[in-house]
Amino acid sequence: MDRREFIKDALTVAALAPLARMAGAAEKGKGDDMDKKANYTGTQVTRRPYRNTGMTMPLLGFGLMRLPQKDGKVDYAIAEAMVAKAMAAGCNYFDTAYMYHGGESERFVGNVLTKYPRESYYLTSKMPIAMMNSADDNERIFKEQLERTKAGYFDFYFLHWLNAAHWEKAQSFGTLEFMKRMQAEGRIRRLGFSFHGEPETLEKIAKFHPWDLVQIQLNYLDWELCRSGEQYEVLTRLGIPVSVMEPLKGGTLVRLTPEAKAVFEKANPKASVASWGLRFAAGLPNIQVVLSGMSAMEHMEDNLRTFSPLVPLSDAERMTIAEALAAYRKSGAVPCTACRYCSPCPMGVDIPRNLALLNQVKGGLPLFHAKLVYDAMKEKERALSCVSCGACLKKCPQQIRIPDFMAQIAKNFA
Ligand code: SF4
Ligand code: SF4
Repeated sequence: MDRREFIKDALTVAALAPLARMAGAAEKGKGDDMDKKANYTGTQVTRRPYRNTGMTMPLLGFGLMRLPQKDGKVDYAIAEAMVAKAMAAGCNYFDTAYMYHGGESERFVGNVLTKYPRESYYLTSKMPIAMMNSADDNERIFKEQLERTKAGYFDFYFLHWLNAAHWEKAQSFGTLEFMKRMQAEGRIRRLGFSFHGEPETLEKIAKFHPWDLVQIQLNYLDWELCRSGEQYEVLTRLGIPVSVMEPLKGGTLVRLTPEAKAVFEKANPKASVASWGLRFAAGLPNIQVVLSGMSAMEHMEDNLRTFSPLVPLSDAERMTIAEALAAYRKSGAVPCTACRYCSPCPMGVDIPRNLALLNQVKGGLPLFHAKLVYDAMKEKERALSCVSCGACLKKCPQQIRIPDFMAQIAKNFA
């Protein structure tokens, strides 16, 4: 069996069980100052040691890319209550980025997180390589991020959304050198990057610098689809802790299909569908933090239950996931995470919304129901306005053949 086959099999057989047991052992690390300050009540999220530093981090992190919305803006009342709930449970790792919510996510940090003592939470932000035009942007953007977040420093700071092209661009702009300078000046504590690409490119970048944390997309659907199992293996072999993004693939692994959900329901009627995906990611031993882009208080409450404490999957539960995955794959759903990196489309097509509708139909929504929603969209937002220019193709981290799907939707929903 070659390495790819092993990783493929790892999802469906007991091969991951030793990893799960190792994960359990990893929970027994000693705490840091934040632990000592925390009032442990038995309802605190599981923490993991960060390397041999004596510091621990919560296994669940609050991803600030999908904050609750009201009238098209961040709903501060709910989002702030969610932060309070997270902090009370020891979920004190927050992940934002320059691009999230068009800058409003970093401003939310500045308006809300700074009400808490700075040493009581970890904050990560990222340099948006995709949006940079010159080396001057390093300084300009970073300064703006410090102003927006009012955090004084970032516990972790990443090159955002690396792939082969963005890595080349970051190097030509000297972004890593700039980040190292900010680290020396105390504005950044640890360096990393977030990644969407092939494991071979990941390995090349991972070997370039002694990174402190690397963020990859990892979930049971992408384990094979986006080769995230191989990416996890690369980072683990190189001794780099992993931060997980999209553990539920932007909600895809919550929505699933009725058939896939029924598999989970039968196995454990009390467990939420989301909890299966989160436990899959968090049970792996080299995972430092699993980010969840929670956009409602119910998501926060459910996730806190899952992580307080985190119980790694049993072999039987891994088989349940494999069964649900097989049921889901039969639907032929498009693996869109609704990240909106493909937007704006020059023609105004609302790509993720069209794909979500298509997925709902594949998941069993009657076509005429979907058509009602489709017809209610503005004409330019509908798939029929796609002119197949291909501009969105290279922006999609999931490598979805967007124009093909737009053509399919335009035809089927006409
Ligand atoms: S291919 Fe279609 S959906 Fe993509 S950017 Fe061009 S017009 Fe928009
Ligand atoms: S099509 Fe791709 S880039 Fe666009 S929202 Fe979906 S996953 Fe994100």
